[in-house]
Amino acid sequence: MHELFSFPIRCERKNYVLKDVFYEGRYLINKNHKDTKIEIYDVFDKPDFIPSIVELVKRYRAGENPFKLVEKWVTEWGFWKSWGNFETETKGDYIYSKLDIFDLLITCESFCRDWELCKAIINQDLDQLQRFIRIEEAEVNDENKCKSSHKISVFQDEVNQEITYDILHFPDDILKEYSIIGSRYLADRIDMFLDKVNFALDKGVITWGKETNKIQLSPVLRTEGLFETLYLQLFMIFSENEKKICPVCNDIFSPTRRDKIYCSSSCKLTAKSQRYRARKANLI
Ligand SMILES: [Zn+2]
Repeated sequence: MHELFSFPIRCERKNYVLKDVFYEGRYLINKNHKDTKIEIYDVFDKPDFIPSIVELVKRYRAGENPFKLVEKWVTEWGFWKSWGNFETETKGDYIYSKLDIFDLLITCESFCRDWELCKAIINQDLDQLQRFIRIEEAEVNDENKCKSSHKISVFQDEVNQEITYDILHFPDDILKEYSIIGSRYLADRIDMFLDKVNFALDKGVITWGKETNKIQLSPVLRTEGLFETLYLQLFMIFSENEKKICPVCNDIFSPTRRDKIYCSSSCKLTAKSQRYRARKANLI
């Protein structure tokens, strides 16, 4: 893009947290009326938002009670979609929000899978990339109906469908090869969610810049729900490709050295003791 057309865009996702939640079957409900205290926060101001999803999925997979887990998460972070959309119903003066907890958990699981792939790509972790991608020979018919063999990469996606990509480049570097294939898959996944991101111009924030002595406009990217917000955040980290993701705590950090893997010395120690415990378990 020509530098003439580049400008920074503010991202925004205001979320509402109502603490008063209860269950009706598999649905978590909250009701809101005039006296309800509502906390509002912007998801883009919370770097621990993605790690909280990863933790939720980890605990769910470990067999913790899904109802209690979701209730705790929602009490802290709010509903998946804010009220004012299709998940809400108005009854008299009350607004009800409903959330299918298993829908939420499935959605979170598929996000975590994409997150792990993004982590493997930007952390340049070949072992992890090979968990997602398999490269094999395949026979294909060319335009003259001649059979030829070429390499393809195979992805196992979350519904266990195999997605194949032709390998267009044959870099000598195996890490490069896997990173390019992984990135093509991740770009497809992100693209599915970015069409729900709205680009808008905030009329309320047309101001007069004191220093510049000119009109200042405020373009903003807004997301419909938390899931789109997660993918927009993932897209930013993926496209920037400067930061790293800590394999232990999932914090996003700017590495001071290229070979830095963990965000802090305490995470480095945790990883060391995890490796030690895994080795010990293998010996028994
Ligand atoms: Zn960490």
